[in-house]
Amino acid sequence: MPTLTPLLTAEQIQRRCDELAAEIDAHYRGEPLVLLGVLKGSYQFLSDLSRRLTAPCMIDFVQFSSYGNAKSSSGVVQIRKDHDLNIEDKHVLIVEDIVDTGLTLTHLLELLNTRHPASLRVVAMLSKPEARTHEALIDFTGFEIPNQFVVGYGLDHAEQFRNLPFIAVLKD
Ligand code: 5GP
Repeated sequence: MPTLTPLLTAEQIQRRCDELAAEIDAHYRGEPLVLLGVLKGSYQFLSDLSRRLTAPCMIDFVQFSSYGNAKSSSGVVQIRKDHDLNIEDKHVLIVEDIVDTGLTLTHLLELLNTRHPASLRVVAMLSKPEARTHEALIDFTGFEIPNQFVVGYGLDHAEQFRNLPFIAVLKD
């Protein structure tokens, strides 16, 4: 039976969203932004963060091939859904659920840089520094967590648990 061990409460997450939104607003100083959510895991974070930002925002999404039902990366990144908005000369903020090995983010940064945004930055709700195999610079980090598989607040295992308002470690 899989067990969930709580890691971050809904209150901790919401408080951190307040702080991140304030940091991001201070950084962009009212410049219009394109928030680029990475589906599906970032949906709760993007929603909470975007409602707190005061800068004018456009919102779009990209999606990569997922882990499927596995709990570790296949090491292959394929784009499944590209963004629709033209990001040339726009300030783009990638909104990530979690950065694990850094592979997905590295690919995304390389791809988006070829499209000449005015600036390209990253906010990630969660980061697992111990798991990093690809150096991927995160500009705004919610929480650094240990190298364990987590679910909730958008993150799934086999499409379950995304709707939880908190984050928990999943153990078989
Ligand atoms: P990376 O390319 O950095 O190894 O992995 C990025 C993607 O892997 C994330 O966007 C997320 O979809 C998935 N992922 C990485 N670690 C976890 C985890 O602990 N739990 C869940 N549910 N997904 C994860």
